[in-house]
Amino acid sequence: GSQLVLRAGPSVDVLQELCGQVKAGAVYFHRSVLPGACELETTLKHVMDGLGIECRRFQGELLFQPERILSGSKTPYKVFTPFWRACSASAPPGEPVVKPSKLIAPKAFPKSEILERWDLAPSRPNWAAGFETFWQPGEEGGTKALQTFLKRGVKSYNEFRDYPSLSGTSQLSAHLHFGEVSVRTCWGAAQGLPGSEAFVRQLGWREFCHYLLFHWPNLVDEPFRPEFAKFPWRENKAFIKAWQQGKTGYPIIDAGMRQLWQTGWMHNRVRMIVGSFLVKNLRQHWHVGRDWFWDTLVDADLANNSAGWQWIAGCGADAAPYFRIFNPVTQSEKFDKKGDYIRTFVPELCDLPAKYLHDPSNAPQEILHQAGIVLGQTYPKAIVDLKTSRQKALEAYENIKAK
Ligand code: FAD
Repeated sequence: GSQLVLRAGPSVDVLQELCGQVKAGAVYFHRSVLPGACELETTLKHVMDGLGIECRRFQGELLFQPERILSGSKTPYKVFTPFWRACSASAPPGEPVVKPSKLIAPKAFPKSEILERWDLAPSRPNWAAGFETFWQPGEEGGTKALQTFLKRGVKSYNEFRDYPSLSGTSQLSAHLHFGEVSVRTCWGAAQGLPGSEAFVRQLGWREFCHYLLFHWPNLVDEPFRPEFAKFPWRENKAFIKAWQQGKTGYPIIDAGMRQLWQTGWMHNRVRMIVGSFLVKNLRQHWHVGRDWFWDTLVDADLANNSAGWQWIAGCGADAAPYFRIFNPVTQSEKFDKKGDYIRTFVPELCDLPAKYLHDPSNAPQEILHQAGIVLGQTYPKAIVDLKTSRQKALEAYENIKAK
């Protein structure tokens, strides 16, 4: 029987006004690791102290308090494995608090702004049309996704998680991002289930990304490894457009980028492949990928996205080494062997036999003809040569290393 009161404006001012209107005795809030959140909390506390209003902060976004997980030298960890070991050795986060049986609503509510007037939904164009086929936003949708995964997915997670055509992962990322299901609920529900270690470890990666953002707020823009500030990125608008639209001529990349556009989500293995291709083979700045993902992912998350791009670009904390360049053709042959994923999102290649599907630019003319494909017309020719672009990327890296 309670209601949500929506207000827009500078947080502290809005809360101060609201507290006056409802004669609040306390403000309870959920802590965040976003840059600027600590300062905001301090200001809020200061203002509320002055008004005699109690302030209580809760930890709901993470399993562990980021300031408490420190190395032997009392500094934050920069490498995932010791970080996660330290988390695992500290007091467990505990079960989620049980739902209160009753919430007493006040007799009268202060005025709320109207959600529709905030004009948040995309309309010109509505790039999210069709998303409702894939997502059920809200706590009910999040809980359903978790239950389905626990029943069917968790035991085979480690075996199937790298194959994009299988629903081998939980697809909980957007629900976790928006707090529709809490990480503590996921963590608690997975404990003791056969095969849950690998899944819990990924929750650990989420924890690590948020931890990094808390300790290094510059992670969003600046390379964690400073030598990368001098990396000779190129700017090629045609490359960027081809990548964004899924028209690179490399089917696994194109399938991933189209999955992202159509559903607002992309499989993790494919995120790594498209990311590596953008920053290494095309040598575009990782900010380009970060921004596109930020605009198009339903699970877009400042911590996971920034750390994910730094990781793939080789400039992050505990990142994939720069010289590890994913080959989109061999990755595709390995993780989408029969081409089911490619055929779902790149239907114009449907009739191409699996043997040639991963690299149509190198398929015999006759085979392409039989499959109704004209390269450059019905499907793009490969926009770069993998071998030479890889070589160029490695040379650029050697150059900054030498400097
Ligand atoms: P599952 O495999 O089921 O994992 C369970 C949960 O663990 C996920 O929901 C997520 O919260 C967390 N998780 C899993 N892998 C990672 C990871 N590598 N880093 C951090 N957390 C992880 N994830 C986002 O939530 N938002 C982003 O904006 C985002 N951007 C990314 C950008 C790049 C370049 C890369 C390589 C990865 C990015 N990821 C991001 C991480 C990962 O790809 C997604 O969390 C995952 O694909 C979501 O699918 P899932 O819920 O089925 O994951």
